[in-house]
Amino acid sequence: MIENEAGVIANSLWTATANPAPDCPPLQGKADCDVAIVGGGYTGLSAALHLAERGLRVILLEAMTPGWGASGRNGGQVNPGLKEDPDTIEAQHGPDMGARMVALSGGAGQFVFDLIARLGIECDAHQTGWIQPYHNQLSEAVVRKRAQQWNRRGAPLDLLDRQTTAELLGTDAYLGAMIDRRGGNLHPLNYALGLAHAALAAGAVIHGHSPVIAHEGSGVGHVLRTEAGQVRAQKVLICTNGYTGKTFGKMRRTVVPIRSVQVATEVLPPEVASTILPQGHSASDARRLLLYFRKDAAGRFVMGGRGKYSESGTAEQMRRLRAASVALYPALRDAEWKFAWGGFVAMTQDHYPHLNELGPGVMAAMGYNGRGVAMASVMGKVLADWASGTPTAALPFPATPPRPIPFYFMRKPAVTATVAWSLLKDRWEERQG
Ligand SMILES: Cc1cc2nc3c(=O)[nH]c(=O)nc-3n(C[C@H](O)[C@H](O)[C@H](O)COP(=O)(O)OP(=O)(O)OC[C@H]3O[C@@H](n4cnc5c(N)ncnc54)[C@H](O)[C@@H]3O)c2cc1C
Repeated sequence: MIENEAGVIANSLWTATANPAPDCPPLQGKADCDVAIVGGGYTGLSAALHLAERGLRVILLEAMTPGWGASGRNGGQVNPGLKEDPDTIEAQHGPDMGARMVALSGGAGQFVFDLIARLGIECDAHQTGWIQPYHNQLSEAVVRKRAQQWNRRGAPLDLLDRQTTAELLGTDAYLGAMIDRRGGNLHPLNYALGLAHAALAAGAVIHGHSPVIAHEGSGVGHVLRTEAGQVRAQKVLICTNGYTGKTFGKMRRTVVPIRSVQVATEVLPPEVASTILPQGHSASDARRLLLYFRKDAAGRFVMGGRGKYSESGTAEQMRRLRAASVALYPALRDAEWKFAWGGFVAMTQDHYPHLNELGPGVMAAMGYNGRGVAMASVMGKVLADWASGTPTAALPFPATPPRPIPFYFMRKPAVTATVAWSLLKDRWEERQG
């Protein structure tokens, strides 16, 4: 688990407006179950819920509290699909598995909204659609190609002209956009807490403040140890994403945690709030280093973007996000910026999430590349399917052995260089545009 992250979540809008959390006492002593889950974000909680609903005995161990990781910190944008577009997914994974991956990821947004409705989770969920605006000809081509490929598969994506884009966003800073009507937004922490309440109600056991410090075992049984106890299980699911630590070192080296940060205003005066994203959409633009923005249910403006590894760099980035917000929406000039927080997005080298079989009875899912609200939720169910008997080959996502990233120790300078290069390319293209 990555240290020193507690302070970063302290000033989060989502923490300040959270529903009551369930009681999840730390693990004490020995316990037995069918499936043990490590990590209480969307992936682990969704897996716990779906397994408990099938009558399996499930114990979830979370180092902090449910939703403490990226699931309680993110932008709450429910964006269907993967980083790669459907044609590329099918070309890279073949017509059968590729089509399954496209169906799973394309349906992931609907999966989330259906789950929330079925469980009655109160998390301000709105399927208003996800807007991806573009700012130059190159990004327009990317967005158009995406919309066309999904349209060919019957998905409800529409291209918006400049005027409609300006009306829906409340800013004329973009040349046009795509709207994916399968998407929307929600309160991310309340969604995670709702999943935790539902998993408990279905019979799962969740222990907070129980970091797993050791994993021993083989195909016939596994033991997970914490400071104060141990869990014996037939199967283990590792759902630690960008917070994967040394206990699961092999998985840790398959993802690169990148800091993403957000800033949010106090509740805006109605005359200002009504001019910004007036129909309640959320947006993330088509830059390489994208800006993602929305309002929350009470009318606070929330802006997110890339962060940096150092605290001072992150503070500087938060200042830039406030400036970028005012550039898009001059009406925010006098807004009071009350919240600022960040967290780790888990990136993978191939831009795909990974479903990794570590050995008999152990499966991990992580690396959502910034699209985990929908994908982590649905991958939790995929893990549940596998743990309750679905053969690996029948899953809608390829399960592979973990492939640690070569030269992992170089990740920080590599990320810094990639970010600088992407920024340069964005700026150069903007000048061309
Ligand atoms: C700032 C930010 C903005 C984002 N915005 C969006 C967005 O708008 N839309 C979108 O789709 N995605 C977004 N994402 C990504 C999304 O939040 C994640 O992909 C998703 O939440 C991953 O869920 P998870 O359950 O896999 O991991 P997490 O929610 O990170 O949960 C992992 C959990 O594992 C626990 N853990 C780690 N090690 C151990 C251990 N040894 N023992 C026990 N527990 C352990 C951690 O404490 C943590 O709670 C964003 C992420 C960030 C950080």
